[in-house]
Amino acid sequence: MKRRVPVLVQTSALLLALTSGVTSAYTVQKGDTLYSLARREGVTVEALVQLNRLADTTLSVGQELVLPSEQKAQQIAGVKVLAPVMLKEGDIFTLRLTGERSAEARVRFLSEVNEDVRSPAEDLAPFGAAGEYVVLGRVVLGQRRPLTYEVRLGDERITGSVPVSSRGLKVQNLNLAPEIAARRQDPKRVEEEALVEKAYARRTPQAWSRPFLGVPGVRVVTSQFGQPRRYTKDEELKYHYGTDYAAPTGSPVQALNDGTVVVAGMYPARGGLVAIDHGAGVVSMYFHQSKLQVKVGDQVTRGQIIGQVGSTGISNGPHLHLEVRVRGEAVNPAALFNRMLP
Ligand SMILES: [Zn+2]
Repeated sequence: MKRRVPVLVQTSALLLALTSGVTSAYTVQKGDTLYSLARREGVTVEALVQLNRLADTTLSVGQELVLPSEQKAQQIAGVKVLAPVMLKEGDIFTLRLTGERSAEARVRFLSEVNEDVRSPAEDLAPFGAAGEYVVLGRVVLGQRRPLTYEVRLGDERITGSVPVSSRGLKVQNLNLAPEIAARRQDPKRVEEEALVEKAYARRTPQAWSRPFLGVPGVRVVTSQFGQPRRYTKDEELKYHYGTDYAAPTGSPVQALNDGTVVVAGMYPARGGLVAIDHGAGVVSMYFHQSKLQVKVGDQVTRGQIIGQVGSTGISNGPHLHLEVRVRGEAVNPAALFNRMLP
């Protein structure tokens, strides 16, 4: 099946990336396929399609492509720093550091100055091993200014900038029934919000050593991540911070990866909620469950069943709302499926 990707909308960002010298193009050789190039680059075919805004997966000899290995590389004190060529709002991404002194570097995302960003411009230590270290970055939904970063090592300092584009989604009107919408005014919401904020503020070491789970089974996405929407008519615009998967009540909900359960309980908005701290500032959350099978403090492993799908909280029908947060900001969960890192 051919994927159709909107080409025109994103052209300006690509042009900006190309003309600002962020990257150079690769010329397709005889025998190259998206699959072979993706393997060589250590990325998915989808990542190449997205990076190049391809409308067609067939390559032709002589065609120019942007490859991740030709991402903007900078050097600081013998450490190579690789940044993405372009980003979309809601993206999770890595800044990769290779070289002996990688672990000594410190990174800050200087464009995080907006009061809507949790933990802005936090001083980040790279994590990883064996000479490859990463820092996780996030682009806040609704944020389209270029993302800028700073890397410091010893007395040296470098900075870089990456263009950010929109996810290009149309506004969805949920028209929630008044009795469901009213759950947002429940006095217990204060406790609910305080608990999730506490989960977002945790900083623990990376707890996973295997790729994140892909969402298991055939599940229909009923509302995409990053969807701009209104709960009721005439209401201010909000973003959908997770992805909704329709599934019958009672379907098993699995942990995306190893971690510690930091929230488990019934809450007015999120319903039956489990939040798992995976370390490195990454928290996954599972909303609207009918039954929970873990408790706060439990160590869970990748794929472990943590509860059952339901329609509790602010929900229109049985589904799993899956959310991933990086230092408290919502990012596209699909970017982690079947991958160790984004
Ligand atoms: Zn949802």
